[in-house]
Amino acid sequence: MLSQVVELIESKNRFAITSHARPDGDSLGSSLGLYWLLRALGKDPEVIMRDPVPGAYRQLPGSESVRVTPSVDQPYDAVFVIECSDITRPGLIDLEKQLVVNIDHHATTALFGSINWIDSTASAVGEMIYNLCKATGVRVTKPIAECVYTALITDTGSFHYSNTTERTFKVASELVRTGVKPAKTAEAVFASYPWSKIQLFGEVLSTARRDSSGHVAWMRQTMEMQKRAGASDEDADGFVNYPLTVGEVEAVALLKESEPGVYRTSLRSKGDVNVAKVAEKFGGGGHRNAAGCTLNGDWEEVEREIVSLLQDAVQRANGLKDITDDALVEARG
Ligand code: 5GP
Ligand code: MN
Repeated sequence: MLSQVVELIESKNRFAITSHARPDGDSLGSSLGLYWLLRALGKDPEVIMRDPVPGAYRQLPGSESVRVTPSVDQPYDAVFVIECSDITRPGLIDLEKQLVVNIDHHATTALFGSINWIDSTASAVGEMIYNLCKATGVRVTKPIAECVYTALITDTGSFHYSNTTERTFKVASELVRTGVKPAKTAEAVFASYPWSKIQLFGEVLSTARRDSSGHVAWMRQTMEMQKRAGASDEDADGFVNYPLTVGEVEAVALLKESEPGVYRTSLRSKGDVNVAKVAEKFGGGGHRNAAGCTLNGDWEEVEREIVSLLQDAVQRANGLKDITDDALVEARG
C-alpha cells in the first residue's frame, strides 16, 4: 500500500531501485523518477539494472548514474522493484535477500514484496511515482517530470491505448507545466533509432501473415535476420504494433527467435481481445492488450499453436459482443 511505502521512505535512508531485465520507458522513467524523488528527500538512492539503458532513454536525467550489475551486491535498507510480475524478472542474484518493495500497475503481479503497492488503474508506474510525490510532499521538479512523462508516453503508446484515462492527461498536463517539452521528449524516444532497426523491420514485416478471417496476424524474426541487420534486441521494439494498424486485425503475435527453438513472443490486441490470458498459458503475462511470453519448439508448430489461441481469444471477445448485442435486442423487445 501507498501509506506503507511513504512510511518506509521516511524511516530509511539507503535504497536501491530496480526493474525488469531489458528495461523499457516505464521501467526507466519510473525508476529514475523515484530516484529523483528520494534525492529530493535527502535520501541515498541508487538505480541498479541487469541490462544497460537503451539509446532511446539515455536522455533521461540521471540515466548515466544507472549501475549495471548481475547481482544486488551491497546491503540496502530496502530495494524498490518497479513493474515486475515476479521477483525473478529483474534477473538480479540475491535480490530476495533484501527487504523488497513491489511497485506495479499489472493486476496479475505476484505479491512478492514485504510491501506491495499495486495500482492497476494507473496507466504506467510513472503515474504512481507522480502520486508518490504528492503523498510525500515532494515538488515535481523538471527531472522528475521528464522521467514520469517518458513513462507515460511509452506505456500508453503516446496516449493511444485503453489504459489512457482522464487522470493520465491531468498528470501529463502538470508535467508539461513543469517544463517538459512533449515534442522534444517524443523525438528522443520515438525518433532516435539506428538504421539497423529499419533494415530489420523490412525483413520482419515481409514475414507478416494473417488468417482467413483477417482478424489474426503474425510475424517472425529469425536470429539470422537480426545478424544480417546488425540489430540489437531493442531494435525490434514496436514492430508488433504495425499489423494492428490494419482495420480488421484484432490480435498480433511477433515471434523473435532468441536461440534455436526459443522464441520471445510479443502479443498485442484491440478492444476486448485478451492477450494477457494467452501469454499466461505459456508462463508469461502482461496487460489485456499488450503481453508477452516465451515459446519453445519448431517455428511451424509454435506459430500454429499461438495463432489458434489468438483466434480463440478473438472469438471469445466477439462472442461477448454478440451476447451484449443479443441482450440489447432482447431488452429492446
Ligand atoms: P513486450 O511485448 O513489449 O516485450 O511486452 C509487453 C508487455 O507484456 C510488457 O509490458 C509486460 O507487461 C508483459 N510481458 C512481456 N513479457 C512477459 C513475461 O515474460 N512475463 C510476464 N509476466 N509479462 C510479460
Ligand atoms: Mn508499465
